[in-house]
Amino acid sequence: MSQATVESQAVKRDFYGLFINGETVESESGRTMRTVNPATGEVLAEVAKASTADADRAVAAARDAFENGKWKKYPVGRRAKVLHKIADIMRSRFNEIVELEILDTGKSLSAAQGQVSQAIENFEFYAGAIVGHRGTVNNVPGQFHNYTEKEPLGVCAQIIPWNYPLMMASWKVAPAIAVGCSIVVKPASLTPLTAILLGEICTEAGVPAGVVNIVPGSGSEIGNYLVEHEDVDKVAFTGSTPIGKEIMGSASETLKRVTLELGGKSPNIVFADADLEAAVDGSLFGIFYNTGQSCEARSRLYIHEDIYDEFMAKFVEKTKQLKLGNPLDKGTHIGSIIDQNQLNVIDAYVQSAIEEGAEVITGGKPASVEGFEGGYWYEPTIIGQVTQDMKVVKEEIFGPVVVVSTFKDEKEVIKLANDTEYGLGSSIWSTNDGRIKRVANAIRAGIVMVNCPFSAFPGTPFGGYKQSGFGRELCIETLDLYTETKSILSYYGSRPLNPFGM
Ligand code: NAD
Repeated sequence: MSQATVESQAVKRDFYGLFINGETVESESGRTMRTVNPATGEVLAEVAKASTADADRAVAAARDAFENGKWKKYPVGRRAKVLHKIADIMRSRFNEIVELEILDTGKSLSAAQGQVSQAIENFEFYAGAIVGHRGTVNNVPGQFHNYTEKEPLGVCAQIIPWNYPLMMASWKVAPAIAVGCSIVVKPASLTPLTAILLGEICTEAGVPAGVVNIVPGSGSEIGNYLVEHEDVDKVAFTGSTPIGKEIMGSASETLKRVTLELGGKSPNIVFADADLEAAVDGSLFGIFYNTGQSCEARSRLYIHEDIYDEFMAKFVEKTKQLKLGNPLDKGTHIGSIIDQNQLNVIDAYVQSAIEEGAEVITGGKPASVEGFEGGYWYEPTIIGQVTQDMKVVKEEIFGPVVVVSTFKDEKEVIKLANDTEYGLGSSIWSTNDGRIKRVANAIRAGIVMVNCPFSAFPGTPFGGYKQSGFGRELCIETLDLYTETKSILSYYGSRPLNPFGM
């Protein structure tokens, strides 16, 4: 490793088990799967592969902890203290967790550091938020009294994607356990390691056995099994829109509560009055952060025709300067793609654009990275001469590929921005306050980023309109998605009630 490389904390184990009822266990069948470092293509570790019998064990442990355990009965301040402890342990092991996340995903050091930091802050955020999460006292006629209680929903299955393994887990685990639920987490089979670590850390911090269970395994096998499981009360899913639709269908059989954080094709609008330098740098980050493998990636770039040439000269030049390399190096901007399959998907989209008449302005093919020849790498790619009906404009690519076109005025660009089945993120670059307000109001998306490339911090609601899903995570409202509201109506009148007049 070069001098600029993060110092190795030697965290790797050869084998990672399932985490059920507070213990690391093997799968009942003894089955394992391999997780690979996508930057090198080398096997990273062997991981126990959960079967449906293991999912049953995890659900039973979660159910028992929920019905008979003490976690949901703890005073709220005590649960908050444990959440702080989880954050403290994670912070004390920060470099180790960052390194493990990089090895499992191929993401760059700066991306992993930011995401692990946010995961820690999420536990701190919910430790605070839970203290203020309470029911209401409601207006009823004088001799009555009505109040509500927020009760934990029960056993929640939480299904996580591979692009932000630990951060997405924290978005789900922290609010669920904060309110007193028990959970069964199914990480993506490509990236299970940091979620397993999180389960262990929760237990070390004082979360009782059975409250947090982690079962890596196949989505179609145990993911789907958990969605259909009669003893699971809620499914919180982050992943692709097609799987989200399947999950919504399967969950309807048992009328489970469902939260869906799905895909996106977010627009990035640069007006002629934008601060050009900020817009170029922000647009670069908006698409190429996390190697474009982001649900909120601003993958459709709309530039006002008056500044197109000037913007593109800078944007293309900076894109060419992005450094692909050792993900553990501080100077690396772009990490690897998650696997060969995703690399093929990205390349097929680029080829489809060429076949449909678009122009590859830069990039457009798998990249070769010295010292990492066995890994999965793709060049940061800009595609021009696109039309709204092309696949690369309509569909989520989930890679470092942005499509660029021009617009003439506000009305036209609002129409273009909303011309999608998705509605997750969007960016506006402008110095005109009135225009910013009008466009922000008109965009049909859950998140509008104004002169800012970042989509969220702990506390800001994150979630989609349209086919990007529903439910908001990362915010106070999320606590409502893990609770039921119970209404208690009492009568305090001096005379007995006799509503039938008998
Ligand atoms: P995916 O849908 O393939 O898988 C997500 C998870 O679901 C994995 O754990 C997988 O094993 C599991 N799964 C697969 N089939 C299942 C089934 N039939 N039943 C239950 N579970 C099943 O998605 P991915 O490729 O891991 O992640 C990329 C996708 O996630 C992109 O579409 C991206 O936009 C989306 N995403 C959305 C957000 C958001 O907050 N909106 C955040 C990150 C990623």
